[in-house]
Amino acid sequence: MGSATGYPACPRLNNADRDARERLRDWEGLHIPQPEPRRREQAGRCMNCGVPFCQSGFGCPLHNLIPEWNGLIAAGQDREALERLLMTAPFPEFTGRVCPALCEKACNLADEGVTDRDNELYLIETGFEKGWVVPRPPLCRTGKQVAVVGSGPSGLAAADLLNRMGHSVTVMERADRPGGLLMYGIPNMKLEKSVVARRIALMEAEGIRFQLDTEAGPDNTAGFDAVVLCGGARKPRGLDIAHRDAEGLYFAVDYLTAATRGILSGTAPDVSAEGRHVVVVGGGDTGNDGVATALRQGCASVIQLEMMPEPPYRRPEGNPWPQWPRVKRTDYGQMEAAAVTGRDPRVYGTTVKGVTVDGMNRITALETVSLDERHMPVPGSEKILPCGLMLIAAGFIGCDEGTERSFGLAADGRGRLMKDGSHHLGGRLFSAGDMRTGQSLVVRAIADGRAAAGEVDDFLRGEKI
Ligand SMILES: Cc1cc2nc3c(=O)[nH]c(=O)nc-3n(C[C@H](O)[C@H](O)[C@H](O)COP(=O)(O)OP(=O)(O)OC[C@H]3O[C@@H](n4cnc5c(N)ncnc54)[C@H](O)[C@@H]3O)c2cc1C
Ligand code: SF4
Repeated sequence: MGSATGYPACPRLNNADRDARERLRDWEGLHIPQPEPRRREQAGRCMNCGVPFCQSGFGCPLHNLIPEWNGLIAAGQDREALERLLMTAPFPEFTGRVCPALCEKACNLADEGVTDRDNELYLIETGFEKGWVVPRPPLCRTGKQVAVVGSGPSGLAAADLLNRMGHSVTVMERADRPGGLLMYGIPNMKLEKSVVARRIALMEAEGIRFQLDTEAGPDNTAGFDAVVLCGGARKPRGLDIAHRDAEGLYFAVDYLTAATRGILSGTAPDVSAEGRHVVVVGGGDTGNDGVATALRQGCASVIQLEMMPEPPYRRPEGNPWPQWPRVKRTDYGQMEAAAVTGRDPRVYGTTVKGVTVDGMNRITALETVSLDERHMPVPGSEKILPCGLMLIAAGFIGCDEGTERSFGLAADGRGRLMKDGSHHLGGRLFSAGDMRTGQSLVVRAIADGRAAAGEVDDFLRGEKI
């Protein structure tokens, strides 16, 4: 415990965000770090509770030793704090930026929880700045070869731990840059791509090989002692409408990928929202990233449609602490839209009835309809919205069928590659991350990749798993 008075004497203070109008002019990060004394004060709010719910099953999936490193930060022992953090968290620079911070909502202080995510980010960035984060290759090698298929957070976490255990790891990635959705999915303002590249360089210096532009299959993984499939769950849910092939209609992840490619290569993106009326179908996080990206590209207008009714502002009955609160949240993209247009871009309880195209099969408008509490269309509630770019962000329905088929595997009814709840699929094959659990969170993918690495290690050592 870093401070005797802690949270009663010091209110919670998040890292501030840059002004919404200012940040819309660039693709740089959103947050402004706080000065060091403020950070120590915030870490000192942690009271090192006897039962730290932040570390429990309701809190951090990595079971980070949160009270320990908060106490060390408050005491000015940053290097020791970082060492405690790195014992369980391989990539705090990712989770410190994009994690929804399950730990903070599970904290005994509930909505006033300690700013664990900002503290974690402070620690890792201080570590990089001061040269404490250096390559740590294993002291000896086991002679076993492991292929990791996919370089998203689960693949990176599995590769990192297997390499530390002394196995020789090759990561195969079909894309031209590593990182999975950390690279092509989550936009640059939420997670700068230089941060991903910095970690990959460190992993390479620790002995992990990355093969990019490589489609992994049974042939090129045949020589490995074990193969961990971390291919993600990127099969998007479509919409049951006519003109699905219209020009101007995209899955949000494809649009976000094109935007990031454009930024990284310094060229115009393959598809842009510039000057277009944009409708994002899906009110979740992916949709929010679509709103923020469209605004930066200079869209004419942006609306986000959500099928579900507007969530309450306070926890509903049956959703008590320490469960994740199912309340209305306004994310950075929605705040930016409100700063520009004066209103939240989300329209609740609404879905798409149909789209209109011109003679060149280009989308020009769409028809929406309101839904009642049974999700049935309300007669007479139809509206026409101008639309030159429609982004579908309606969720994901399972893993990539190409990878599933090529390895001769069959996903379960929810599109997941798992067997009896374990990571081991049989023979030399294992799975981890969204491919095993369905679309989830970066922190959960990291935890799952580390759990898979443990099972692979047991297998390679000939132990029963
Ligand atoms: C737009 C968007 C924003 C998100 N924002 C957040 C957020 O802010 N916070 C958060 O916690 N979570 C967020 N998520 C969820 C999070 O990104 C995922 O849960 C996480 O990335 C899953 O990691 P993964 O390693 O399992 O898979 P992925 O990140 O999907 O990586 C899978 C990789 O495998 C590769 N691959 C697949 N098959 C093969 C093959 N046969 N050969 C070679 N390579 C292959 C793919 O190319 C891909 O690079 C977001 C998701 C989306 C779509
Ligand atoms: S990874 Fe997420 S849940 Fe875990 S300590 Fe960091 S912010 Fe909290």
